[in-house]
Amino acid sequence: MKIPRAFLEEAMARCTPGAECAALLFGRGDVVEAWRWMRNVLNSPAAFRLDAEEMYKALAEAEGAGRELVAIFHTHPGPPDPSPLDVRYMAVWRVVWLIANVYTWETAAWILKSGVELVPVEYI
Ligand SMILES: [Zn+2]
Repeated sequence: MKIPRAFLEEAMARCTPGAECAALLFGRGDVVEAWRWMRNVLNSPAAFRLDAEEMYKALAEAEGAGRELVAIFHTHPGPPDPSPLDVRYMAVWRVVWLIANVYTWETAAWILKSGVELVPVEYI
């Protein structure tokens, strides 16, 4: 997956350990072209939940621009490996899950196929 470096720079500037930070990434194929930061309604340092209406609006807007949801981003207060809860939601949202360690900014991308698989990422 190709992700603009600008996205990661924005994430580093706005995400703090106080609450998991989340964004929807839109594009075509495996190229991210746009993104929208989402409110974490749990406001928790160890979990996130998106607001359904905010998510719906972002998805509708992207669709209007001819883009599809290609990845969901969120931060962890630790290693960028999917939590058991993440894996449950990965089964619902079968796109790439990009996770970043909010302290080190190590990132990893995952997708659920028959099992959780690592997706190679290139920052462009
Ligand atoms: Zn997670």
